[in-house]
Parts: sequence; structure tokens; C-alpha cells
Amino acid sequence: MQGDIMLPPETKVEYNNSPRQLDVLIQEAFNETPWRVTVDESREGLVLAGKCTRCMDGRPGNLVGSEMGRGVAFPGGAYIVMVDRAFKQGKKVDEAIVTEALDAIEAAGLTPYIHDDRHGLLGCGYFRLMQENFAITAERIKEMLLARNGTFETLEGDHTENKLVINLVDGMTLEPDGSAFVVDLAVLEKLDVKPELVLGQLKAAVPILSHGKVIDVVIKK
Ligand SMILES: [Zn+2]
Repeated sequence: MQGDIMLPPETKVEYNNSPRQLDVLIQEAFNETPWRVTVDESREGLVLAGKCTRCMDGRPGNLVGSEMGRGVAFPGGAYIVMVDRAFKQGKKVDEAIVTEALDAIEAAGLTPYIHDDRHGLLGCGYFRLMQENFAITAERIKEMLLARNGTFETLEGDHTENKLVINLVDGMTLEPDGSAFVVDLAVLEKLDVKPELVLGQLKAAVPILSHGKVIDVVIKK
């Protein structure tokens, strides 16, 4: 496995709040990369999103078919909100930051979620890549999350994603079927996580998680 890496916190593009601008921001973020960015304005594949902060990981798990199993998808589920708060405060994720992030997720009407796989909690590739930024273990975070009715899932199988879908359609998401990493970027804005942070992290993390295979980005809007 790869060693820990520090992911770049931001791309350089300015952000303005409208969905159209978010679309432009994504295109610009991938401009000087080999990634192929396409826009899909059909509603194909979209389902009503559940109230849970699922991971962008495309693998289905034990919650598949349930409302929690089609929650909004973020890098690492609840982890990215912790990382965002830690970056903003110039420190590593600790118990206070975890509490702050879980509070923010619940205040937005969502249920915080993290997951593992057959390799344990490091089976969340986002957490594994971001470990350097955590001064608290995933086991302790799991305990804190479950103590306040968070959702935990065990994902199955290996990574077979062949694209990254960045969804901008509010209230909708894509169910995990193994085919795509999914990020519901517009929802992260409601949690005060800037798209620049998310896009910078995706550009760094997705090639590692997919062993360089994923180079197609589909913007759903
Ligand atoms: Zn994950």
C-alpha cells in the first residue's frame, strides 16, 4: 500500500455560489490534467438521496437498497468535514474537531457515516490517504459516531470504479453499484466545505484509489 500523503488543500480557482459556476469550477479544476470531463444533463441513474453522509467509494455494502445506503456521497463520508475543519484551524483532526464536524453534519439534517471493508477501517481509502492529518484513530471516531446514532457500513469487494461522477443535482445521488466514485459536491457547500478543497483532494486521491484507471469525470447537473 501507499504511504501517507498530504493532499493539496485547495485548487486556485475562485468560487461563486451558483450551480452553473460550480460546473465551470469543476471543468477548470481538471483543465490541465489528462482527465476527460463531460457534462450529463439527463437524470439517468439518479435516485432520491438519503439523509446520510456516505463515502464516495463506489462499492456497495450492507446498507445497499436502504435509504442510508443511498445517502449523499462525500470523500470519506463524515471524514472530509473533519479534515476541512482541521485545515481551517491549522491543526490535525482531534476529538474536538470530530465533535464539531458531527455537530455540523447533524445541524444540516444529515446522519454522519463512515465505513470499513474486509481490511478494517483503513479500507476507507480516503481515510487511509489522509491519515497524516488525524491525531485520533478511526476506531475512536467510530465510537464517537456510533454514540450519537451515526451510521456505519461495511463495503464489499474490490474497487472496480471506472469513472468519477460529480453530481450537482440537489436532493439526488447515484446508488453505489461498483461502477463509479460519486461525490455530491453541491451538498458539501451546505456544510461549509469549499469545492476547491474537495476538487483538489479528488485530483490527488482518485488516481491512487483506482491505480490510475479513472480518468473520466462526469458532471451531473
Ligand atoms: Zn471511504
